[in-house]
Amino acid sequence: MADLKTDVRFIKGIGEQRAKALAKLGIHTLQDLISWFPRCYEDRTKTRRIADLVPGETACVCAMVASVPAVSHIRRGLDLVKVRAVDETGALDVTFFNQSWLKTSLRPGETYVFCGRAEGNLLRRRMANPIVEPEGRREATGRIVPIYPLTAGVSQLVLSRSVRQGLDACGDILPDVLPDEVRQNHRLCRVGFAYENIHFPADGEALTLARRRLAFEELFLFTLGLRRLRQRREVVEVEPFRPVDMEAFYGALPFTLTEAQRRCVEEALGDMASGRPMNRLCQGDVGSGKTMVAAACAYFCVKNGRQAALMAPTEILARQHYEGLAPLLEPLGIRCALLTGSHTAREKKALAAALAAGEADFILGTHALITGGLEYRRLGLVVTDEQHRFGVGQRAALVGKGDHPHTLVMSATPIPRTLALILYGDLDVSVIDRLPPGRRPVQTSFVDSSYHPRIYRFLRKLVGEGRQAYIVCPQVSESEEGGDDRKAVTEYAAQLQREVFPDLRVAYVHGKMKPKEKDAVMAAFAARETDILVSTTVIEVGVDVPNAAVMVVENAERFGLSQLHQLRGRVGRGPWQSYCVLVSDNQNEETRQRLKVMTRTTDGFKIAEEDLRLRGPGDFFGRRQHGLLGLRVADIGCDAQLLKEAQAAADALLERDPELTSCPATAERMAELFTEAADTLN
Ligand code: ADP
Ligand code: MG
Repeated sequence: MADLKTDVRFIKGIGEQRAKALAKLGIHTLQDLISWFPRCYEDRTKTRRIADLVPGETACVCAMVASVPAVSHIRRGLDLVKVRAVDETGALDVTFFNQSWLKTSLRPGETYVFCGRAEGNLLRRRMANPIVEPEGRREATGRIVPIYPLTAGVSQLVLSRSVRQGLDACGDILPDVLPDEVRQNHRLCRVGFAYENIHFPADGEALTLARRRLAFEELFLFTLGLRRLRQRREVVEVEPFRPVDMEAFYGALPFTLTEAQRRCVEEALGDMASGRPMNRLCQGDVGSGKTMVAAACAYFCVKNGRQAALMAPTEILARQHYEGLAPLLEPLGIRCALLTGSHTAREKKALAAALAAGEADFILGTHALITGGLEYRRLGLVVTDEQHRFGVGQRAALVGKGDHPHTLVMSATPIPRTLALILYGDLDVSVIDRLPPGRRPVQTSFVDSSYHPRIYRFLRKLVGEGRQAYIVCPQVSESEEGGDDRKAVTEYAAQLQREVFPDLRVAYVHGKMKPKEKDAVMAAFAARETDILVSTTVIEVGVDVPNAAVMVVENAERFGLSQLHQLRGRVGRGPWQSYCVLVSDNQNEETRQRLKVMTRTTDGFKIAEEDLRLRGPGDFFGRRQHGLLGLRVADIGCDAQLLKEAQAAADALLERDPELTSCPATAERMAELFTEAADTLN
């Protein structure tokens, strides 16, 4: 009898060879195997008559081979097998590429099931490369077929056969990680049924039940884990920060903090004075003024005799924070330091020494803050800016640099509520829900490339009024195939300079430039030495040049809505009217609708929700981040109701049985999940 940790090699019917292939997918144990869930399904239960095939649609037909398969050698590396199949309603021409072995295995007079996309017209029906199997031995058709995520060397059939073996090996031993009571209260199916039907659904209904149960299970365990993390933190005691007269700080600012900013500061200060480690998310739309909240917290921390660190996702941003905050804080007696990857080894060493000796109070930087083997003297606060850009592990690493430092996570991504609950379930949240006064919403338009002459005239006019402009082109990428109209940043900038704006100052910046070069370009732009900055999305996050009043986005269809929102947030930071022009020639109706959302609203939350709805959570956060959540079945875009139920169930269970003594299987699975994920969570 197997247990779930059994190596797949030892499962009957799998063996060394296949185990090797599976290992490529990261499948090592029986548990891995049965948890390798299909990415989608194809309903191949029904067969159609040949006469009923609709060109363009995928279908199965049951037909008799009516000709001897003919093989032709088209060219090197391309063989073709052609065969004619018939049923009582008509004939179907079937071709197979590079499967010459079918010549002998398809026997005239025998009946097979062909499953594929029908082509041709009503008179001549064709199918290219269908799945084919003998009518009497159906495996890949005749049922709802799971479609698995694959890698080279593992086919759908190999995978589904392996899973079949895996499930058979499990027999009845699958432990149910959901306590029976929870399962029944929420009308969830049993674990055996769930695994069986998520892989090999008996019918649509069974699949729905299976999916619901497994999604619930994930969300339930996830919630338990987050609650556990929070509890653990709540028992940690740290020396409470003393009250500090903040007026000196406020008085040094060039403006009055908004009420929303003040509230966030007070909430954070309250946390740090509480004697428990702060773990707070400060969420505010682009331009809402999160930096000052961070600065206030750093001030408070340093005045308590501790060091503070601020980690930004890019060099540009780290430097900008440093250049903005150092002049403000230094006169208040706070020694600021900047550390980025582009410092020389010697500079880094000096800085590290200063840090360790406690000669720097507030250190700003990129992830070099955690990779450099830095020793802090008395790290009391860690702020991460634009946190969704960091692997959660990086955040954890920085926190590990101190003895339970307070943490403040700042995010401009207006995360839809369902996602926030999952991502930040163990964080306290402050929201900056108002922009600083005097901002005017950015006017956004959506045009095609025939508008370029007008756009250029418009840019010229605004530059004439003293403003500056950004033009964003999609990322330069080596893997890009030629032949599309993607404009490389450098070429585009050169062309603009030469042909359109010979008298203006055009510069460019992209991600492949050296950090020093990037910084120089950004600094020149901030100092108004450049009129038009052509860039990739390196400016997407956080860059703050209030004089910039136009954002033109080329090939706007290549960006997600949230990304466009971030880009647009680069303008509209000064007192004048700002503009965003989205340029796209894409004719896809869905794409056009998506881009139109941008012209209708400037509300980041609405945009994020729309984005999540249209693209799904995987794209919203990037695949990797989504993977970090460890959710394979649950879809946080759509399972909001289920999430609520799972959370309620988890809370009720913890209330009853905080140590989970009544359900060891639950406790064990959760421990597994969260030791694997320990450094990926806060
Ligand atoms: P974000 O939340 O996107 O990080 P920033 O902190 O970069 O926003 O602030 C955006 C701009 O607003 C900056 O130029 C900043 O100086 C300015 N700002 C911040 N707070 C205020 C305020 N209370 N009043 C006026 N301007 C402010
Ligand atoms: Mg910011």
